[in-house]
Amino acid sequence: MIDATDPVSMIAALVTVFTSAAVVWLMIAAGLRESPWACACLAGANALLAASFLLHGALGLTLPGHYWWSDVLSLAAIGLIRLAVPLIGERPAPWVVVLSAVIGIGAATTLLASGQQSLLHKTLLYGAMGAMALYAALDAGRLLCVRGLRSRTSLALASPLIVVGLLILARPVEALLAPGRTADIDVDSTFNIAWLWASLVLALLINGWIAFLLLMKLILEIRRLTERDPLTDAFNRRALAEAMDLEHARQMRGHGYALVLLDMDRFKQLNDTLGHAAGDAALKTLVMVAQPCLRETDRLGRLGGEEFCVLLPHTGIAGAALVAERIRALLEAHRFEWNGQDWALTASFGIAESSARDISAAEVLKRADQALYRAKAQGRNVVQAVEVEEAAGRT
Ligand code: GH3
Ligand code: MG
Ligand code: MG
Repeated sequence: MIDATDPVSMIAALVTVFTSAAVVWLMIAAGLRESPWACACLAGANALLAASFLLHGALGLTLPGHYWWSDVLSLAAIGLIRLAVPLIGERPAPWVVVLSAVIGIGAATTLLASGQQSLLHKTLLYGAMGAMALYAALDAGRLLCVRGLRSRTSLALASPLIVVGLLILARPVEALLAPGRTADIDVDSTFNIAWLWASLVLALLINGWIAFLLLMKLILEIRRLTERDPLTDAFNRRALAEAMDLEHARQMRGHGYALVLLDMDRFKQLNDTLGHAAGDAALKTLVMVAQPCLRETDRLGRLGGEEFCVLLPHTGIAGAALVAERIRALLEAHRFEWNGQDWALTASFGIAESSARDISAAEVLKRADQALYRAKAQGRNVVQAVEVEEAAGRT
């Protein structure tokens, strides 16, 4: 039975939790093809923490230098967590920095008296661990942000690791305020029991949180796949239609929007002359050229073939004309080359703004389509608009 007020029982519980978590992460690493290196790092981190507590608590009485080993193992464990987060996001992990920190601080602490947790010793050790935990939290927030979450949500989701980082950093502060109070974790004191309980909760929290991060990444990836066009990475027709319906519903509260419909000129000729692969590259080029002209809230979607649509929230016909003209001019100026052959890429643009009279976004799209038809009839590579009154007059 575990006695929740006895430090040795608590250390045994911690070692069991860390060992079990290491086994689970190893199983995930072997079974799940997603982020196997990150899972391996987490298995390693848990194994090191189990070893660290075992040394510090149970074997510490007999093994010389156990404090040093225990500290270095804890530091290496946090280092592995620091590496795991960017690996989940498929970004390069700072191996060199982490390895240098572990070796450097490990070497520096040997010079300090072993067995005595001096303030300098604690500042070095916990300072590095806290900094690595906070950097990992920062990376986690960035990872979620890049995958499409808002920055505030990402920060909230990264907060468990921020709390861990701050708790670790609190230890040297605590040592400064109350020197000598935490001499050894297997000493039976109220502080040690509380600290060991906190470690147990944090161990579960961090493992659960990283599993959640992995799951979140998979969910965001799947969401991205369902709403993006695989060739150009623009929104697909369905995602754009959803965004347009939402924007149309907002219009009821007085926020108008505009649509820019654009169609590549003489695209069939490009395909026939340079080949289908060149056509695909031209479609990607169009998206690459158009994207920087748009705000974060604008939506560029591929309706099909070489036809695209941009949804511009809170924008009228004049604003839409400016955006369309900017894309048109940039595309015309862009040098598209395929197998040594230059090709002039151009597109025609039809724009329309929403009106209170429109029952749905489809009506605005219909006007933009009429405008596009006019742009083609005028010889292509131009921007044309159809106003609500004009469309009403026609019908
Ligand atoms: P216009 O200036 O009047 O728009 O002429 P166009 O040739 O661009 O228009 P048309 O509709 O006649 O031809 C569109 C071509 O786009 C036909 C089709 O083969 C090609 N296309 C559609 N989707 C793709 C795609 O995903 N990749 C490539 N390479 N070509 C595509
Ligand atoms: Mg075309
Ligand atoms: Mg077309």
